[in-house]
Amino acid sequence: MRLDEFLKTSNYYVCENTKHYFIGNFDVNYIEINKLYNHFLNTGENLINNYVKLIHLQWEENPFIFEEQKHFLDYSLEMMRKLSVMNVDFYIECRFLIKKGYDNYNNWILKNSGKKRRDAQNFISRKKIREFIFKRDNYRCLCCDSNKKLSIDHIIPVNKNGKNKISNLQTLCKSCNSKKSDKYKDYR
Ligand SMILES: [Zn+2]
Repeated sequence: MRLDEFLKTSNYYVCENTKHYFIGNFDVNYIEINKLYNHFLNTGENLINNYVKLIHLQWEENPFIFEEQKHFLDYSLEMMRKLSVMNVDFYIECRFLIKKGYDNYNNWILKNSGKKRRDAQNFISRKKIREFIFKRDNYRCLCCDSNKKLSIDHIIPVNKNGKNKISNLQTLCKSCNSKKSDKYKDYR
């Protein structure tokens, strides 16, 4: 099996510029990849499975990253199973870990969303903050250019761990803001 095929079956996401490879949000460098690849050639053991466990440990510590990583992990599991680089037992175990991660994430959301929303609301209600953001964005909605009913939006939504800081705020009119809802969209 060639290296590029191995990477594909292992579902690495390659960043061309930096030559870094990502598994979910977990990045490893080229030398580590080669080590994993040689290990796979010599023993048939796919150490990428270990990364799945690492990702799961990350979820336990930071439940908010679950959403970003879940679809990626789902996809890679399917792919690895199809290509028989993962055995069935481990696949089932991974599925179980994902379910656990999902429950953990939902509990975290429940626990945090109320307080987070209040904190965020307090932050963007501050007069100085509002004035600064509106002025910086020329008193226009960055999406539709309207100058009516302006509001301040968290670019990365607070329930996706977006921070209460200037660099995470943008001016949107109320209508564009409600269309954006809690999606991530940077109009600047
Ligand atoms: Zn607008």
